[in-house]
Amino acid sequence: MFHPVSGSVEVICGPMFSGKTEELIRRVRRAEIARMRVQIFKPSIDTRYDEDAVVSHSSIKIPSQKIESSDEILSILNDFTRVVAIDEIQFFDEGIVSVVSKLSRRGLRVICAGLDLDYRGVPFGPMPTLLALADEVLKIHAICTVCGKPASKTYRKPQAGRDKVLLGETDLYEARCTGHWEFDEFNSPLTVSSSEAKQEPGFIN
Ligand code: ADP
Ligand code: MG
Repeated sequence: MFHPVSGSVEVICGPMFSGKTEELIRRVRRAEIARMRVQIFKPSIDTRYDEDAVVSHSSIKIPSQKIESSDEILSILNDFTRVVAIDEIQFFDEGIVSVVSKLSRRGLRVICAGLDLDYRGVPFGPMPTLLALADEVLKIHAICTVCGKPASKTYRKPQAGRDKVLLGETDLYEARCTGHWEFDEFNSPLTVSSSEAKQEPGFIN
């Protein structure tokens, strides 16, 4: 595994339930064992479970600071922080790309976790650019709820309705392999142009 000493961007991506948050917490804990000062951020839109902690679906949690917009990270960064971890990074504005890049150029290690695709299979917000600029990328799978094979997609259940951004859990979303992934035909990237599709981020992990 890649072990940066300074100035790097790591991106952990995959569908819902793939273990992105668990992996982010694992890396943060190891950095803390190495006595590095860490700050953990999440977007304020994600209020599931806990306002002031990053929490995994397996209930592992770690305290975090919630922020409204990407610039806030730079203004609340402590001088001694060496590692910055950002969960649910797909929800940030495009400005997050220059913030992440700036932090790594200042010599910080930046660990990002986020959904690569929304439930329609459309790349999510700033994720494509973050994946391109990353020094290290980890794409992980969940388990398909239908067949038990590796799942790279997120399926939104029909009862979830059509709201574009919808906070939800196992009641609304499932991990699925590509073969068992079904999506809303009216919002699918296969039936609308990619420019239309990009304007409509799909859901919240
Ligand atoms: P993510 O941040 O990618 O949504 P989490 O780190 O929050 O994922 O949670 C991963 C945990 O979710 C797993 O360790 C497991 O306990 C649980 N889980 C629930 N459903 C699934 C599934 N379909 N596939 C894999 N893990 C699942
Ligand atoms: Mg998560």
